Amino acid sequence: MIGKILKSITLITVISVGLAWLTYDGVSLRSFGKWCVIYTLAQIFCNTIYVSCVDYILLKKLNEQTIERYNKQLQTIVPFDCPCPVKTQQPVSVNMAEQNSYKCTHCKKRINVNIHMDNALATTPVDATVADINKIVQGFNEELKLND
Ligand SMILES: [Zn+2]
Repeated sequence: MIGKILKSITLITVISVGLAWLTYDGVSLRSFGKWCVIYTLAQIFCNTIYVSCVDYILLKKLNEQTIERYNKQLQTIVPFDCPCPVKTQQPVSVNMAEQNSYKCTHCKKRINVNIHMDNALATTPVDATVADINKIVQGFNEELKLND
């Protein structure tokens, strides 16, 4: 960080002195110094605007990505049966934070989605060793072979 700052100060100074040198008439050192200061301030001004623009663009992009990620987490696809007599089933993309609706592919009616929350008893985690799990997997595989 300090290295970067020193590098920036050195670069700004070299550019300012270089530009002032180009306009130096070889007589007035005061004028040379004045132009060094003017070029330094101009560079600081331009850098500040540049950094502000880059910050703004990066922050805007980050906000968009965060909102997109947040929306994706709230989005889920649920298969629904239409309340029409045909009971057409279709997958619907549902956002948990919004009022959702979809159009039935059969009757072409717009259907609202109601979101219900319910609780369920948590299952006890299986306390098993690797050998136990291997035995379960082996049994499962043998059952699959029997079904073939
Ligand atoms: Zn329908």
